[in-house]
Amino acid sequence: MNLPVTTLATGVEQMICSNQFGTFFGVSQVVFDEVWNRLVDPHRANVAYISMEIGADPDVFHPVRDVLKQAGIFSSSRPMVNDFLNKYFHGPRKIPNYSGGLGVLAGDTLKSFADLHIPVFAISLLYREGYFSQFVDSKVGQIDHATRWAPESTPTLFQLRDPHEPTEPLTISVPFFNGQLKPTLVSAHVWMKLEISDKLDYFVPEFLIDYCLPGAPAWVTDSAHQLYNAKSTIIKANQRRMLGSAILPLLDVLRFSTDTIHLNEQHGATVILHLILQELQTTLGDDFLEQMTDANIITAAEKVSRKIVYTIHTPVKAGHDRFSRHLYSTISHSVFDRILNLLAHDTDVPHEYNFTAMAMRINRSINSVSRLHRDVTKKQFPEFGHKIKAITNGVHHLTWISDQRAACFDRIPSLQTWRSDPGCFRTITPECELQLRPMLQSAWHEDNRQLIQYVNNMLRTHREQMVETWIDPPNHLSNVPENEWLRPGVFTIGFARRFSTYKRADLILDDIARLSDILITHNWPVNFLFAGKAHPADEPGKSVLKLILDNQEELFVRSRGLGKLVFIPGYDMQVAKMMVSGVHAWLNNPKRPLEASGTSGMKAAMNGAPNISIMDGWWVEGYHGGQTGWKFGYEGPVEKADLSEAPDALLYTEDASAFYDLLPSILQTFYERPDDYMKKALNNLRLNIPIFNTHRMAAEYVNQYSLQLAPEVRDKIDLLSQLYTSEENASNQQAVVRNLANP
Ligand SMILES: *Cc1c(COP(=O)(O)O)cnc(C)c1O
Repeated sequence: MNLPVTTLATGVEQMICSNQFGTFFGVSQVVFDEVWNRLVDPHRANVAYISMEIGADPDVFHPVRDVLKQAGIFSSSRPMVNDFLNKYFHGPRKIPNYSGGLGVLAGDTLKSFADLHIPVFAISLLYREGYFSQFVDSKVGQIDHATRWAPESTPTLFQLRDPHEPTEPLTISVPFFNGQLKPTLVSAHVWMKLEISDKLDYFVPEFLIDYCLPGAPAWVTDSAHQLYNAKSTIIKANQRRMLGSAILPLLDVLRFSTDTIHLNEQHGATVILHLILQELQTTLGDDFLEQMTDANIITAAEKVSRKIVYTIHTPVKAGHDRFSRHLYSTISHSVFDRILNLLAHDTDVPHEYNFTAMAMRINRSINSVSRLHRDVTKKQFPEFGHKIKAITNGVHHLTWISDQRAACFDRIPSLQTWRSDPGCFRTITPECELQLRPMLQSAWHEDNRQLIQYVNNMLRTHREQMVETWIDPPNHLSNVPENEWLRPGVFTIGFARRFSTYKRADLILDDIARLSDILITHNWPVNFLFAGKAHPADEPGKSVLKLILDNQEELFVRSRGLGKLVFIPGYDMQVAKMMVSGVHAWLNNPKRPLEASGTSGMKAAMNGAPNISIMDGWWVEGYHGGQTGWKFGYEGPVEKADLSEAPDALLYTEDASAFYDLLPSILQTFYERPDDYMKKALNNLRLNIPIFNTHRMAAEYVNQYSLQLAPEVRDKIDLLSQLYTSEENASNQQAVVRNLANP
């Protein structure tokens, strides 16, 4: 392993640093000052990355912990350092500030920015009840309850101190206009999480705004406790405001300079309103209210546009925030109402403000998250079609490649740089494959063994806990003898993601008789492992989850015990990592083209596991004519596609049938031609790691920002940009330009 143990040559005390906002742990003072000084330098711009959720559990990836462990440092004689170490080794590590794909992508992106030394800081909210914790009962289905966690004892998380009164937390005052001209100022505390680079030589700070202070009004705490609380529209609108309205006050207090605000989805879009208000005040003076015209607003909006970079993540309507004009005017400023009338009007639903429409209008660049999603977004927003570009998502390879697989790569000479350069997998030669093949095979075997062991232990725990918890074990297998539980080496298919109806988790159960026949005919056993949460207010999503549970027994019985379907409750990053590396194939069967990108399949691909997927989202780009996995189902043109989430019974049956048509050949490859199966795994490393990593994606984002970068950072970004161009025409255009210049 090439971890920077030398960092510790002078002792763990080197890993402590401080400034007027507190004392932190994980990087040296030199590194800390270098990063912070850049962020406060008024002459150099930085990027503010705004996201409603950020998923970066230190459980799953944390270089500081790895270095400490490797160096055998578990305590220190300095009490303060010891406290930090204790947190690392004994504290709870989960930071439940995400619901799924959007948040995990944000976390992966920030980690890559840190690895690449890009001057970025992130802003999000701190949710003291997280998203929600999931129990599953076979009779009831999903049971949700508030997550308990303690930010105070979570490593990598620090509450900022007040520079003038260091014993007190830093308090910022966030303005909320509740239908009046003068703002109500609401206090919030600020937590900082450090996304520290793999080599501990850089970091990206994440600022999490905490509104749950003693004495805070109920309208604030109602919206601050829980991510995506959907109890009422006003709670939802307030939650968005809490994010968007905190940005400028926080920048003020920290004295950070930025000329790019990257909106990861439109949730934080109210910052646009505040920026326009500020601009109007600056240009028209204090009596701007009396003077201002619509033309003034448009001019101000154009100026603000130059600051905004916007990423849209979904074509699904529920993902676009709309609020009734009437409701919004009760939590607004009269100027905001005028701005929204001009910029957030929705031609389809005139009595609503559409925040996606506003984000579409006010920006200097828009990107969707895959090529197919770009085409869909253009169809949905034809007015902005010329601005919408693709930047295909990626995942942070250092987070998602399992330890076993990582150890293989470390042993291959031509892959020595894989940690900093995920592009190096392109160079895998046939000789290199020969060397890698047996190692990868045994690493995969071990990851599969660990996953199966985890599942069997879980089945036992559920059975034993039944008496105390009154929860019926979610899985039928908990009720059968242990010798019929899962065995390692049996073909295992994974499926884990949010339970939204368009993701159609139950698709493969459409015809259990047919599925069972396939297994019985050739005596092929198969494990199906499912996980994922349905939003507590998503009743149809919860019904799909329940359906999965309800069908387990029938599949087991009809297939004579060959088909075993297990649901793993409490899907989170740790379960995700275990699944993507422990299964033999990853399944995705959404209603095309509603899966804008999908990232869990990329995590599987990084570990070599082939995908079996509908041609949707990233898979259109990752399929490589069948070299890396299998495709099935409808793949007609997006022009004809139905973008509603409503189930389409005919399409559903056809796609399910296509899966059954395909399955025998997959099973045959796995059981009878294992070399061919391994070839697909190796192809995934060679063809997909270089594309679907967040280093490459971050490089494409950096090209949208205007940043002065150190020459060595610029070079690195240029190299990564060459790995792939999400805009397929861009490379052609470059080629044309080059040809013109060099005829
Ligand atoms: C990767 C990940 C997701 C997103 O998966 P998709 O395939 O994009 O739906 C959701 N939740 C967790 C915990 C993840 O790790």
